[in-house]
Formats: sequence, structure tokens, C-alpha cells
Amino acid sequence: MKLSQYTIVEEVDNEILLYNSVYSAIVLLTQSEFHDLQSFINNDNLEKTELFSYLENQNIIVSDEIDEEARLVSVANEKRYNPSQVTFTIAPTMNCNFSCFYCYEQGFRQHTMTTETAKKTAEFILKNVLPHQSLKVIWYGGEPLMGLNSIKAISEIIMKNEKKYKNFNAEIVSNGYLLTEKVAQLLKSYHVNYAQITLDGDQINHDSRRCLTNGKGTFARILQNIV
Ligand code: SF4
Repeated sequence: MKLSQYTIVEEVDNEILLYNSVYSAIVLLTQSEFHDLQSFINNDNLEKTELFSYLENQNIIVSDEIDEEARLVSVANEKRYNPSQVTFTIAPTMNCNFSCFYCYEQGFRQHTMTTETAKKTAEFILKNVLPHQSLKVIWYGGEPLMGLNSIKAISEIIMKNEKKYKNFNAEIVSNGYLLTEKVAQLLKSYHVNYAQITLDGDQINHDSRRCLTNGKGTFARILQNIV
């Protein structure tokens, strides 16, 4: 066995945190358990305990013969070429209320989709989905909640044309700052059943990186929105 190349090891309060960044698995081990794990990895003759089987199930450790990169490509291709589902990633706006120093958007034009473009986007989606296919839309940005009108417009056109696909689901990748309960209810009514919200560590670390355009921290409000 070997530690997955995607497992990050960090000491936290004298315990060992193992995090697999592909499968989002998190396990906290005592120093002694981690020591046993290292011995197990380095010695093929040691017995696989219940804990090590669990770590394997969580992909924290993997068999030596597994090529993890090839496995990732295979899973990605399986999703990409799955004929029963078609996925569209849509940025209703490139605008954002945050000013993260590492943002890939630096230098991009921060345009928001017009009503006309929203209508054409919905028509494009409906033209490219088949009646037997599941339709998935991922709302992305910029901060997609700053383009809520386009999310509404596109979702409503899709939902009015339900005969053109088998079922419709959506996800959103958001910074979470505008995700009030009312907005969450609205998104739910537009079939958004999964939200990926970014917190960059604890409040001090998060607020030093993910601040509003006026420099104000955002951690407290995001936490209030999602708990
Ligand atoms: S929240 Fe996302 S899009 Fe907005 S500035 Fe930060 S990294 Fe960029």
C-alpha cells in the first residue's frame, strides 16, 4: 500500500489530519495510529487492520499497483462521454463582489449576461439535449449569484420545456456571501440541489484572502448563510 498522491498530511493539535483532495475524505489519526500506518505502508507483511481497510475505502491509502492519474482520467472521461447525461457550465456573470488576490479573473472583462444572451443560452441548451438525457447545469462565474436574473431566466425556459430532456438538475459554485435563505429557496425551486461554497481556512486566513472589493472580511457572513 502507499499513501495516495492526493492525500495531504498535516499535524493539528498534536494529531494527524489526512485529507484526500480528490475524494474530499478527511480522517484524524492519533500520533500512534499514524505511526502504525507508516509502518504498514513500509512493510508488506503487516496485517491490514480495520482502520487501514477504512483508510483504503476512503482512498487515503491505495494499492501500490494503482495508477492514480490514469484512474482520475478514466473517471473524468466516463463522466464526459456518458451518453445518458449532458452538462453545461454557465457563467451568468463574470462580475464578483470579492477581490481574492489569487483570482484567475484578474484582467477579465467583468460583464454580466444580457436578457437576450440568457434566452439564447437556454435555447442552445435545449437544442443540445436529447429527450432521454439528464440535463445538468453548473452555475459558475465570477460570482453567479450576482447574475441571479440570468439564472432565473435560463432555468424558467428550461423548466417550461421539460419534454426536451429526461430530468433537470443544477449545481452552483458560489462564494456564499449572497446566499441568504430566500436566495437558497429560490435556487431550490430552480432545481439547484448542490452548492459548493469556498471557505479558505479559519476566519483570520479566510478574511486575509477572500475579502470584499472594499477589503472587508467575508467569513462571518458566509458562515451565517450556510449554517
Ligand atoms: S470569489 Fe471567486 S471569482 Fe470572486 S474574486 Fe474570489 S476567486 Fe475570483
